[in-house]
Amino acid sequence: MYIQEISIEIKTTANKNVLVDEFQLLMSFYRGSGQTQGKIESQYIAENKIVSLPYTLEKNSLARKYNNFYVNNQIQKLEELCKSTLQFRTVGKYSNSYKTPCTCKKSDFFILTTNYVSIDSPLTCGTCNKSVPLYRLPVYYDYGYMPILSWETNYISCDSLQMNCEVGERWALNQMQDLKSPLSKQGFKICKKIGELTSIPTYYFLYNYTKFKGDNLSRSCPGCNKKWGLKKRLHDRYDFKCDRCKIVSEISNKT
Ligand SMILES: [Zn+2]
Ligand SMILES: [Zn+2]
Repeated sequence: MYIQEISIEIKTTANKNVLVDEFQLLMSFYRGSGQTQGKIESQYIAENKIVSLPYTLEKNSLARKYNNFYVNNQIQKLEELCKSTLQFRTVGKYSNSYKTPCTCKKSDFFILTTNYVSIDSPLTCGTCNKSVPLYRLPVYYDYGYMPILSWETNYISCDSLQMNCEVGERWALNQMQDLKSPLSKQGFKICKKIGELTSIPTYYFLYNYTKFKGDNLSRSCPGCNKKWGLKKRLHDRYDFKCDRCKIVSEISNKT
């Protein structure tokens, strides 16, 4: 994970508030194209310069080849308004706890998963267990990946509620661990489409905390009712995997 600096010098008398708004729009387009992570970048204006410090999975995530139609259009608009050129600089590496992204030539499968503190990609490689930058996928929708990021935001919101405990904890948990919840349905739809676009089976991670008392590997899959316990724990996280329903899960740590 890297921290990048994107900046532009203002060489016109255009209203700075308008320019800041246009810059923010560019940052949201970078997120939609899968090039920046987490929607948590700092942004500031210093004298005649607008600066933003987004997180990216790779050093070259902001390379022009990954730009989509909206990013390119907005860069052009901003450069015309400011009468200067957008500048890029890699500031440094973020926390070492973030692994480098997947470099597999072809992943055996993908897993859609995130959590309340993650700024990784919501797509993980099932082969190496590393993050898959969304810009490596074929275009998902409207030049980018917004429906995947919308699920990610919803999931993180539910996970935050259940971590904070006081408001909507039970409701949020059900969203995360019920196969038929709106959150799971949204996730399954994404898995199915990524599977179709890439020809790589894409699994949904089903959260499991308190739902199954006395949880054990012989418990059957909540989708097809068949055996899905793994003989060997996968990536030190997954205890269950159903290849029919395309779900992975873990043994409840409450039992
Ligand atoms: Zn991989
Ligand atoms: Zn199943």
